[in-house]
Amino acid sequence: MKIAVQKTFILRCILLSLLLVLGIYIYHTSTPSNKIAPITDTRFSLNTIVSITLYDSSDRNILNEAFALCDKYEAIFSRTMQSSELYKLNHSHSTTYHVSNELASLIETGLYYSSISKGAFDISIAPVSQLWDFTSEEPILPDSDKVKHSLVFVGYNNFKLKNTCLTKKEPENQIDLGAVAKGYIADKIKDYLLNQGVKSALINLGGNILCVGDKNGKPFHIGVQAPFKERNVTLTTLDIKNKSIVTSGIYERCFTVGNQFYHHILNPRTGYPYENDLSSVTILSDKSLDGDALSTTCFALGLKDGLKYVNSQNDIDAIFVDSRGTIHYSKHFKKHYS
Ligand code: ADP
Ligand code: MG
Repeated sequence: MKIAVQKTFILRCILLSLLLVLGIYIYHTSTPSNKIAPITDTRFSLNTIVSITLYDSSDRNILNEAFALCDKYEAIFSRTMQSSELYKLNHSHSTTYHVSNELASLIETGLYYSSISKGAFDISIAPVSQLWDFTSEEPILPDSDKVKHSLVFVGYNNFKLKNTCLTKKEPENQIDLGAVAKGYIADKIKDYLLNQGVKSALINLGGNILCVGDKNGKPFHIGVQAPFKERNVTLTTLDIKNKSIVTSGIYERCFTVGNQFYHHILNPRTGYPYENDLSSVTILSDKSLDGDALSTTCFALGLKDGLKYVNSQNDIDAIFVDSRGTIHYSKHFKKHYS
């Protein structure tokens, strides 16, 4: 009898422990991942405001490493930082260089977009773009003779890249990667986050936005800035997952002297800003590098040729806004984002 009671007692204990273990297991597996509070950081980097948010990790080291990547690539691609690899290349008297793999890779992409746009977009714009300052509080127009003289050295065909060996025609030929670097860096940060097991994050490099996965099972709501309106006045809000969204516009890096308006997307044929009736081009793509390169390239191509190019590409969508504020969507836009 005593033994029977003991047996029932032990059996009950085992059952209780089993239930307890099972309960803990169910609690853990059914705890939604969004129980983790997002972590975010915002810093000034890449000459702009960089903000990175992780939605499924609370590891601040991952966030810090992501920002460290911005510093690493700025030290390679910056046109203005005197210690950067690009600065040294631009200011060297030699015409043959061995560049790092990263620099070679980005120059290759830049030369590709320069070539498909027949020089409307041109990474060899540096001799002219360095004469302009669109960030100063008191803007000064560059000397027109200097612009004319510097134009002589602009032309992507002056550069040849074979693996990591870059040659240029004359020492004065220089490269500006300002139109493509942020896209490249955003993709690298995304690769890093995925390697660390982060599957839900938002990378925002001064408006160059790259979504990693979705926001805990739901799409990210990303507003597209309305040109020349107050910040956060949106043209439209898009629900996107795992996509890049990049805008090139004339309303942020710009100034007016007299009655003349000047902005930072320059016509490589004149050395002065494009006047093509566009206010902004937004590109949606998988890779942020394509988005960054294409938003500037399509702006430079103008509405007709820019739209034609986007419509010929798979998985690229675009929003063009003209100077009257009229919105022009690419062919498949509504199908993909409505
Ligand atoms: P943001 O600087 O806002 O990211 P973009 O990606 O459109 O905007 O890049 C603009 C930058 O590209 C300029 O600041 C300059 O460094 C460079 N740039 C200007 N005009 C051209 C051009 N025609 N082709 C290639 N790069 C250009
Ligand atoms: Mg760009």
